[in-house]
Amino acid sequence: MRDYHIHYYIDRCADNEMTFPNIEEKCIELGITEGTVVKHYSSSMPNGQEDWICWHKTVPEQWRQYLDEYASYEPKRMIIHSGVETELCNEAGDINIPIEEQQKIDMVQLSVHYMIDLDCLPMTLLLYPNLNFCPAYNNDDGKRIVEEWRQKTIQAGEENIIIGLVNGYINAIKRFPKVKSLAHMADGLKPLRTYLVDVDRVTIKRTIEIMEPLMRLMAEKGVVWELLNEYANPEILKRANQLGVGFTASADGHYLESGWGPLLKHREAEDFLDSLSLRRGRIEF
Ligand SMILES: [Zn+2]
Ligand SMILES: [Zn+2]
Repeated sequence: MRDYHIHYYIDRCADNEMTFPNIEEKCIELGITEGTVVKHYSSSMPNGQEDWICWHKTVPEQWRQYLDEYASYEPKRMIIHSGVETELCNEAGDINIPIEEQQKIDMVQLSVHYMIDLDCLPMTLLLYPNLNFCPAYNNDDGKRIVEEWRQKTIQAGEENIIIGLVNGYINAIKRFPKVKSLAHMADGLKPLRTYLVDVDRVTIKRTIEIMEPLMRLMAEKGVVWELLNEYANPEILKRANQLGVGFTASADGHYLESGWGPLLKHREAEDFLDSLSLRRGRIEF
């Protein structure tokens, strides 16, 4: 088994136990023989500050420390690649790590952690619309701001928004060869649902049609579609599978055995892929 998305202790969201030796030991125990230990990398935050909700601008010293520690660790029983998890920023496909830093690692896990800037819908909502992460908007002012955003999504049009997100992924893959995996993709619509876009107003047939160019490009470039053990519309996944996309299972492990992830739950994601008979992708480095 492979898991291309395992977090490292230097990031504050990951537990102190997430060191190379501990990760290797746990992976071997679980039957994972190849993996990528990622560092979060964000050049900037949507609010222009050091921190936003649960994301943080990268501290250069910590980045160097990660690269040094990766270079000096020699795994004995598995293959470990280096990488970052970073964000897609906009429809043009900009990503949240400079090209010169991308050169220093094996791969980029590309996430949509928060809404990207779309031509039809500029990202202006600085309240993260999920109460678990951002209780700050649970008051009259916050509710008004979120409702104004929801109205903007209706004006922009759900279909246009899906097209914009798909364009963003396509452009990023075309521009940055280190993008080898789309992180915690689910069915590709999850970030839009989080941002209150009523994606279910678009028929599933039309949604799949919009997503097909992305699926074909992923198949052509060998970019894998990562799934955790979470809801995703099976019809979308099955169509991607038909078009040749390779899938990977991950626990998005921030801990070894308890807490966020944890790595221990990797098998559950594998079972989810098996339940839909999805082909496994293997990244070429
Ligand atoms: Zn993530
Ligand atoms: Zn992650």
